[in-house]
Amino acid sequence: MAETEARGGFDLHTHSVHSDGTTRPAEIAAEAASIGLAGFALTDHDTVGGWDEARDAARSTGVDFLPGIEITTKHGRSSRHLLGYGIDAGAGELFEALAEVRSSRLTRAREMVRRITVDYAITWDAVVGAEDARTVGRPHIADALVEAGYFEDRSTAFREVLHPRSPYYIGTYAIDTVEAIRMVRGAGGISVLAHPAAVRQQAAVTARELRDLTAAGLGGVELDHPENRDEWLPPLERAAAELGLAVTSASDYHGAGKPNRLGERRSSAETVARIRELVVTPN
Ligand code: AMP
Ligand code: ZN
Ligand code: FE
Ligand code: FE
Repeated sequence: MAETEARGGFDLHTHSVHSDGTTRPAEIAAEAASIGLAGFALTDHDTVGGWDEARDAARSTGVDFLPGIEITTKHGRSSRHLLGYGIDAGAGELFEALAEVRSSRLTRAREMVRRITVDYAITWDAVVGAEDARTVGRPHIADALVEAGYFEDRSTAFREVLHPRSPYYIGTYAIDTVEAIRMVRGAGGISVLAHPAAVRQQAAVTARELRDLTAAGLGGVELDHPENRDEWLPPLERAAAELGLAVTSASDYHGAGKPNRLGERRSSAETVARIRELVVTPN
């Protein structure tokens, strides 16, 4: 079962300004220290650009740091977010694939903004902002809509304009989940399936799918996540136990971009030790 600790513990899923979070990696490290986390993982979408800053800040604030990433993948027709921990930042194949994801995200965001500007007065500059190296996504379009005064927060902008059934919506390139698991493994890391029962999905990931992904090399599953729907969890809990998967807890912190608070869900030191054991390249 997933564990939550009042003090200590690790938040294994956070986003910074390198993707769609609103705080810098160093600020996450400082906040982690101030709320008494033992450590955290930075898991920006499709980039490891925040690792150096996060690692340095974690060292100086005395919290443990686990390098991570959240990869945009697709299994069959279903979107799946795959967390990768402890990957070697010099690995070629995975990073080439990630560069393709980021470039597709840019093209897709431009096209979505083109559609949206027919009805809403926002600019591309307001969407990409000052951080030109970050992974662009719908949250940045949401922020531009909020900034222009149309909606009060990201969540409302998603509900009104950016959801997948919206006429403005366009999908983005995603790596096949099985391929991504293989590439993470090839890069010395370990994959954990993110929020498998997220409310925004039409249905939870099935036990069968979890088995298939485990056969492909998946090492864990994020069963404790603020957006997982509790009623969907029991079959996944049983499957995770049978398959011997590591079970993680995390907040999916996005700074001011989402209501999720840093450290609201925490993995135990034992869970983190297990994940580290599965990592080939200590990092
Ligand atoms: P994208 O990858 O560009 O399609 O955008 C997906 C990102 O948007 C994910 O990281 C989510 O955290 C975020 N997101 C999805 N739905 C919402 C929502 N209703 N409110 C705020 N953020 C959301
Ligand atoms: Zn995000
Ligand atoms: Fe996600
Ligand atoms: Fe996330």
